[in-house]
Amino acid sequence: MEVIHPSVKRARLDAAADPDAYWAGQAEGLPWFRHWDRVFDWTPPTFRWFEGGLTNLAYNAVDHHVLHGRAGHAALIGLHESGERRTFTYAQLLDEVKRVARGLRGLGVRRGDRVAIYMPTMAEAIFAMLACARIGAIHIVIFAGFGGSALAQRVRLAGAKVLLTADRTQRKGKTIWLMPIVEKALEQMQVEKVVVLRRGEGQPDLAAGRDIDWPDFLAGGEGQSDAYEQMESNEPAYILATSGTTASPKLAVHVHGGYSVGIHSAARVVFGMKPDDVWWSTSDIGWVVGHSYIVYAPLLVGATTIAYEGAIDYPSPNAFYRIVERERVSGIFTAPTAVRMLMAHGTQAAEGCDFSGLERVFSAGEVLNPPAWEWMQKELFQDRIPVIDHWWQTETGGPVMANPWGIGLSPIKPGAAGLPIPGCFCEVRTPEGEPVPDGEKGILVLTRPFPSLTPTIWEDPDRYASEYWSRIPGVYFTGDAVHRDEDGYIWFSGRADEIIKIAGHRIGTMEVETAFLRNPAVAEAGVTGRPDALRGEVVSAFIVLRAGHLPSEEMKVQLLRTVREELGALVVVGEINFVHSLPKTRSGKIMRRVFKAVILKMDPGDISTIEDEGSVEDARAAWQEMQGQIDG
Ligand code: AMP
Repeated sequence: MEVIHPSVKRARLDAAADPDAYWAGQAEGLPWFRHWDRVFDWTPPTFRWFEGGLTNLAYNAVDHHVLHGRAGHAALIGLHESGERRTFTYAQLLDEVKRVARGLRGLGVRRGDRVAIYMPTMAEAIFAMLACARIGAIHIVIFAGFGGSALAQRVRLAGAKVLLTADRTQRKGKTIWLMPIVEKALEQMQVEKVVVLRRGEGQPDLAAGRDIDWPDFLAGGEGQSDAYEQMESNEPAYILATSGTTASPKLAVHVHGGYSVGIHSAARVVFGMKPDDVWWSTSDIGWVVGHSYIVYAPLLVGATTIAYEGAIDYPSPNAFYRIVERERVSGIFTAPTAVRMLMAHGTQAAEGCDFSGLERVFSAGEVLNPPAWEWMQKELFQDRIPVIDHWWQTETGGPVMANPWGIGLSPIKPGAAGLPIPGCFCEVRTPEGEPVPDGEKGILVLTRPFPSLTPTIWEDPDRYASEYWSRIPGVYFTGDAVHRDEDGYIWFSGRADEIIKIAGHRIGTMEVETAFLRNPAVAEAGVTGRPDALRGEVVSAFIVLRAGHLPSEEMKVQLLRTVREELGALVVVGEINFVHSLPKTRSGKIMRRVFKAVILKMDPGDISTIEDEGSVEDARAAWQEMQGQIDG
């Protein structure tokens, strides 16, 4: 029996027969000021899509809808955990974007200049992103949870002229002051101007000559032009540092043309996004998901997008469900860490909340472990709507592996990220580049560029060539360990360099973590390999128990039994450490190298060649925290 939905099968076959024609067809769905001369030019290691085409990401996202009868449709709903709610129609959004565009021009920002945005997920930050794209300036958003060194490092790498910031953000009711962090960063970086959005009471003083108050910044743009620039398809729209699961930060480049086409196509093919959707990505504008699926793609589609500043379980565990109910959210994009957090609160947190408007939920960022998937799909949603895992990276701009709900849902296999979407092509290879048969583990490579794939690293084309296209010559190296099953689904087992080798068997970190999560006492699990004289490596596990369960020797025995039942005797667990939280990256991914540093009693900075100041800071802090928990 054919497993894959017939429409998906057809789309994949059509795209495979003529990928350029497929992507040209997808590009026709967006406005162009000038049609491209050539769909695709691949001159390794880089490539160009829609060459000669003139377009503008921000025009397509905002002006186009205003000009086509949708001026009054809600574009953006800005929510704050305190309960503040602001909505902007497409016409209002356009006005706001134009104001910021004039302000930027008033500061002397021109096409090609870089503008750093160190702000939480709030409306003004989104106006700023769109305003940069509008005038052809290149934005670099830095997650507002990063410290001063990480901020400075990213601003320096980008060579940003101006920094836009907010004086504060809030999380779980706690005010986080951003200005002292900016001050610290300014000791290590140079920008011409700092524009500060001061919010609420107790506003910080501004440094004369350097800082500009947001209202003055807007006023300073009076008389400036707010016209959009016509950008060649391959000109950068923004750059963004990869999140720091890898070595030193790299700035991925995303361009006006290819990126628009790629994320708009995936919005429809994968997410089935449509103009009457109320779309909520629970991510942050500091990450690529925030760029693509809080800001740009929902607006390209003409939908209503929610930008939420705060924690999704604050002020109460039902905060998430209340937003879904109140805003009549129809599509959600979230991450496994959020799903596991909701799971830990249990279905009782959702009692009495109406989410009948919700049609589908997507997750990406890490594997959505089957126990977490089952809880959400079956217990929480009673199988009424699909919960769909899908895979991508900062560099891919949008989804690559998915079960494309928008064109036809194939059976969901919990734990698998789906198939390469139409127009994307992958293979599973050994580190030496040999093909790996179905069912066996290897490294995922992408064999052909697609429009939203980053075509270079900002000012470092050599690094782009060596890190992505040369490890296995001629293909894009994702660094993820996977296997493909008989139906073509791709199963992710973790980063390739985190694979645990027990007596010659290669086990993915995620397989062992999922096995632990099968035990109902477990809220979160993280594992790493520990050297073992006899077996090469054994598993070292870090376990967070759910409320109501206590660490004990008996609990360890129970957990070992669960893992043995799930994975067999092959997986030897050397030790179980009970902890009250796991070390995570700022984007919520488990930092497994911190486990390794803890068990090997090493400095986390030495575990791999991390040069990312943000990551080293995070890893050290997490290491100390872990060490304390374990010693205690
Ligand atoms: P980032 O560029 O920070 O978004 O991280 C990309 C990495 O996150 C990928 O290379 C994977 O290791 C991991 N990742 C993202 N989505 C998934 C998923 N659905 N399943 C497994 N791993 C994922």
